[in-house]
Formats: sequence, structure tokens, C-alpha cells
Amino acid sequence: MSKHTFQTEVSQLLHLIIHSLYSHKEIFLRELISNSSDALDKLKHLTLTNDKYKSLDFDPKINLEFSDGDNPTLTISDTGIGMDKNDLVDNLGTIARSGTKNFLSQLSGDQKKDSNLIGQFGVGFYSCFMIADKVEVISLKAGSKQAYKWISDGKSGYELEKVDKKSVGTEITIYLNEEGKEYSNRWQIDQIVKKYSDHIAFPINLTFDDIEYDDEGKEKSKTPKTEQINKATAFWKRSKSDLKESDYNEFYKSISNDMSDPFDWIHSNAEGILEYTTLFFIPKTAPFDLYRADYKPGVKLFVNRVFITDDEKELLPTWLRFVRGIIDSSDLPLNVSREILQQNRILSKIKSNSVKKIVEKIKSIASNNEKYEEFYKQYGRMIKEGVYQDYENKEELLELLRFKSTKEEGSVSFQDYVDRMKTEQKSIYFLVGENETALRQSPLLEMYNKKDIEVLLMDDEIDEVIMPVVTKYKDFEIKAVNRSSAADELKSDDDKNSEKEIKPLIKKIKTALGDRVKDVKVSNRLSDSPSCLVADENDPTAQMQEIMKAMGQGAMQEVKPILEINPNHKIVSKLLSMRKSKAFDDITFLLYEQALIQEGVKLENPAEFVRRLNEVLTKSL
Ligand code: ADP
Repeated sequence: MSKHTFQTEVSQLLHLIIHSLYSHKEIFLRELISNSSDALDKLKHLTLTNDKYKSLDFDPKINLEFSDGDNPTLTISDTGIGMDKNDLVDNLGTIARSGTKNFLSQLSGDQKKDSNLIGQFGVGFYSCFMIADKVEVISLKAGSKQAYKWISDGKSGYELEKVDKKSVGTEITIYLNEEGKEYSNRWQIDQIVKKYSDHIAFPINLTFDDIEYDDEGKEKSKTPKTEQINKATAFWKRSKSDLKESDYNEFYKSISNDMSDPFDWIHSNAEGILEYTTLFFIPKTAPFDLYRADYKPGVKLFVNRVFITDDEKELLPTWLRFVRGIIDSSDLPLNVSREILQQNRILSKIKSNSVKKIVEKIKSIASNNEKYEEFYKQYGRMIKEGVYQDYENKEELLELLRFKSTKEEGSVSFQDYVDRMKTEQKSIYFLVGENETALRQSPLLEMYNKKDIEVLLMDDEIDEVIMPVVTKYKDFEIKAVNRSSAADELKSDDDKNSEKEIKPLIKKIKTALGDRVKDVKVSNRLSDSPSCLVADENDPTAQMQEIMKAMGQGAMQEVKPILEINPNHKIVSKLLSMRKSKAFDDITFLLYEQALIQEGVKLENPAEFVRRLNEVLTKSL
């Protein structure tokens, strides 16, 4: 016998599970059955694809047995792939996935929140310690000769020893504690299995004592009996008309580890040239690892109900990585490698059809504003990623975007915008920035507001990245109002005149500012402010440059903005007449610096700015 201690993270996880999942303790059975089912899937796959295992007598089963009385136990055994010594050490003594480790370190200690999160990423095997004093795992791996026993009280570590076991598979015996006593009961087990594991594709048998009573109600005879207690048909292959909402909810929970009901689902069956079934779920809250590079994909691939993989990120495009579910195809070979999967034409067809179905679903959700708002809060960013990545569906995804607007509270779609724009308007205008309040007060909007032209406001960081690829909606060009050309439509004849007049002034401002700006121009877009900064047609904007800097892409050549001045503003008219004055440079710089501040850019030399400001103030007092 050898003694081992748990990896620190395991102890942490155990502690957490026991304390935060207490009110859901019955899920331990779902977790263990699901592990058994995975183990059966793996062995089934081997016997079908690997010559070494073809002769193996595969009789897939999950058996449940219990004993009540003073020392109650519950035993779950399966004829799955089993674990050898290394597997036991690696799987039941450490936490391998780095995502899970990171996740653990982020937990807050807020039990309610933690229990939701912990449910999301899967508690697995360790959940049985909620109801156990001690757990024994005896396992023989397919292909090995020696079986091992793993024993632990779920506190600091475990023991391992060699044992005899003839048949391949795993047997887990739980020594039930006070909290777990109730699970040494036929009806209790039956009910939990029906609730969580009815769809498991293998038979789950329960052994119990069949008791006969005599006329006086006394026990007459007791015979052990075994009964299959689940339906054992692949859930997704069942007819839609047989399935109720609650069935979908339970199935979703069993494949996702999420404890809440799904937000929505899409179940479809394709027949004809390609035969496949898909069942996709949209979780109510976005999975916790959505923005991690090592996120766990949520879709499992089956071939004719045989499990193939749950670790393939290419089954759906990355922007749909929040979707959970199943793809089951009849037309793929069983022994598909990852490389084959990624190039497989059947799979890519299934993939593109699946995306279409999901997009359709999202569109139908979008027809209900309230429901869509809930969806968008969780997955709006994913739609934006889709606009950026998914060329095939871009047009449809554009319809699904929502923005803030200068015209209306709440969210607005491109279609809403187009529906109410004036006939002479040729483009759709938008402004991206850090926060809504600053955006609403931006000088760049002055003329648009005055002329009653709606501008979409975007305050999500990702907008700055995706909007450059969104150049058109239907026949309308989409223009950032902080681009030099966006104000062309605002031009009027008066403006042209003033431009002529003001030429020498512009030249002088340009000289004063030197290479701080790319150019100085007369603005059509300003009404109340004296100046603003815009980006040249194809240059990244100031905010974009800030994002690039934050992402460590500092090496990018710095791009200078264009300074626009308002020819009708008092300060500018005054400047015209004081071109020779000493204060000219100070005022010019102040015009430039105030525009920077309004863009949300940090001044490089605030002290100089303050000096200039005070100089001008002193003079005016
Ligand atoms: P998860 O199932 O999320 O990977 P678990 O803690 O439930 O996490 O299980 C860890 C690993 O232990 C599984 O991935 C599997 O490799 C192994 N395992 C658990 N139960 C069994 C079993 N009944 N048969 C074979 N392997 C198992």
C-alpha cells in the first residue's frame, strides 16, 4: 500500500464543493454516472476502431447497488475503460486543467456566487465527498493486467494498493455519511437517476431487495432483484414531440454542468444526403471561461451515437463558443483523427448548417426586445466577434447588432436607424469611445445634433476593433464621425467661403503645432466647440492606438490626428485678428489640448497645459 497527498488545488476544490454545493448534494450521482458513461464511450470507441481491443467482450453497463443499515454504502460500477495506477493518481489526485486551476484561484469566498460558478465548470468525481466518510475506487483498465484500489476520506490524501479484479471497468464504493444516508434507498436512487441520467445511452441497473409481505404486513421473503431504471436512448435521437421543456432542461444540465436551465435550445434532425442530429443549447449566463484562450469547447461530437470527442474547438466557429450541445452524424468514420476532422467536408457542411440554425434562433430571440436584451448582455460581444470572423454570416449578424444612439434611449439596430433616417442622408454615422457620458457630450456630435442626424454610440472596447470591417449596411456606407471625410455631408456653401478666408490662419496654426498633427482643417462638424481631433481616412483612431498600446503593440508607428477648427467660433475669429500676438501659440496649443482631453487621451505634458491655461486666464482677468 502507498500513501499519497492531494495536490493543493484538489484540497481547495474539495473544501469548496463540500461547502458551497451542499444544497445540491444529490448531483454526485449524476457526476459519477456521467463518468461511467464517458468510460463506456471510450471503451466502445476502442473496440470499434482498434484491433487490439476488437476481441474484447464489451458488455456496456452501469450498475448501482446499495446496503442500508448501520453502515450504509452505495456502489456504482461500470464496464468502461477503467483506470490504471497512473490514471488513478492523475485523475483522482490532481487537477490537470490549467483553466480549472486559474478558476479556483479567482473564487471570491462568496458561497452563493461560487456555487454557481463551480457548478459551471464541473465538480466531477470529488462531489461524492459531500456525502461520504470514505470512498473506494477499484479499477482495471482495458489492456492491463493489474487492478488497483484507491481509498480516501477526502481530507488530505489517498492510499493506493494492488487488488484482484477480473473484469475491465471501475467500481466505486461510497461509505455514506450522515448526510448521505438517504441515498441507500431504492426510491431515492431511482428518482435521481430518472431526473438526471435518463438519457445516458447505456443501461443503468439498480439492484435492490424485492420484499414480499404476508397478510399481516410482515416480511415474508426477500429476493435480490436487478432492474434497468433509465430509458437508455440517446436523448437527442428521441422525437421532439416526445420531449418536454423539463426534459431539455435536465439534459442540458447533465451535459453542461450548469445548474440553471438553459436560455434556449435548437434541436434538429437532418435527413437526405447528409444525416445528422444536432442539439444546441444557449446557456443563461455566459460560460466563465469565454474570454480565456484555453476555454473548454461545449459541443460533443458523436458518430452514430458513439462518442468521439468533446475537445474539438472547430465543431462550431469560435464566436459560438458559448453554445453547448451535441452533433451526431451518421456519415463520419468512427476513427476520425483531429486532422481529418478539421478537413472533413461532411463536418464542415454540418458546421455551416449548424451555424445557420443557431443564427436563425438568435434572430427569433431578437424579435422579442426584452428577451434579446437579456441575450445581448451575455453574448453581444460574441455577435460582434462573429461579424469580424464569420464572413459567410456577416450580413445576418449585422442585423443582430445593437447600439446606443443619440436619438433614443435603449438599443438600436442598423435597421431602426435606416428606417428613420432622412431620404437625403447617404450614410450611417457612429462614434466609438470609452464611456457613454463622454460620447454623448463629444464635440464631434455637435453639427449632427444640430442637423438632426442620428449617430450610433459605441462604448464597448471591441467596437473599435470590429467597426473597421463593418463598412456597409445594405446600400449605406457606415462612417465613423471622427473620420475626416465623415463630415462631408454636413458641408454647406457658407462653409466653403469661410474656408478661403481662414487659410492663412490654418497655415499659422499648423506651423505652431508642428508634427503633433497630421493636418489642420476647417471643420463642418462643430457648432459650440472651437476644435476637435479626427483621424485621417485610413488611419487608426486615437482610441484604437490606445488599445494597441495596452495590448503591447507599442511598436506601431504613431499616427497623428487631424485638428479641425470651428471657423464660426469666437475664439477662432479672435485668433484670426491676433496672428501676430505673443499669445497666439498658447491659445493654439490650448485648442489642440482641449480636443485631446475630450477624446479621452492623456496629455503628455499636463504641466505645460496648466501653465498655458493660467497665462491666458491671467490675461483675461
Ligand atoms: P471530469 O469528468 O470533469 O474530467 P472527474 O473529476 O469527474 O472530472 O474525473 C476525472 C477523470 O477521472 C475523468 O476525466 C476520467 O479520466 C477519470 N474517471 C473518473 N471516473 C471514471 C470511471 N468510472 N472510469 C474511468 N475513468 C474515470
